[in-house]
Amino acid sequence: MKIILLGPPGSGKGTVSERLVQDYNLIHISAGEILREEVQKQTTLGKEIKKYIEKGNLVPDQFVAEIVKLGAKGKKNYILDGFPRTIAQAKEITDLNIDLVIYLDVPEQIVIKRLAGRRTCKKGDHTYHLTYLPPKKRGICDYDKTKLLQRKDDQPDVVKERFRVYHEKTQPVIDYYKKKRMLRIIDAAPTPEKAYKNVRKIIEDTFK
Ligand code: AMP
Repeated sequence: MKIILLGPPGSGKGTVSERLVQDYNLIHISAGEILREEVQKQTTLGKEIKKYIEKGNLVPDQFVAEIVKLGAKGKKNYILDGFPRTIAQAKEITDLNIDLVIYLDVPEQIVIKRLAGRRTCKKGDHTYHLTYLPPKKRGICDYDKTKLLQRKDDQPDVVKERFRVYHEKTQPVIDYYKKKRMLRIIDAAPTPEKAYKNVRKIIEDTFK
């Protein structure tokens, strides 16, 4: 089962991926997470990547495509989260033989509110929301017990730029998969949990 999960920033891709990992034993390959890990390592490359992420811009195609392909190499069951985000990236992975592309559709006003309250654990693997999905203990991750932080790129001016880039670069990817008849659209406006129920239905239908 090879699935691509697309959606605007804050549409719930991370939450839906976590559930897919638990229920279907899929490997979660998140381009954003891999890139943030590289930034945390403070390598020369990481420092370069940081500049793009903090401005809300996309990291250059060739680099992202390479690391994602490396992560997917030899694997048969995975979710690509937040990749591909450009047509060039989509074309780079035609040989992966993806089964299904799921698009989490959420209006911009809703995701902007979600991003403002989003907090992630220092390790970067778990995501919360101050109002909709608070941790058991304020400011602390339920799983890792590390501090919860706001991502720099979740700050309002960077979010604005991420949306601009999203409309310009990623919207065409959605149309690309629509034309290939690989795309399933989910209304993800209510909550990521409700969206996940519909994701499950689509998966059960596709892989029965
Ligand atoms: P995300 O965690 O998916 O919201 O990604 C956070 C940031 O990482 C994005 O705003 C980009 O700067 C970078 N990024 C993530 N995925 C990609 C991608 N497929 N191509 C280029 N840059 C990416």
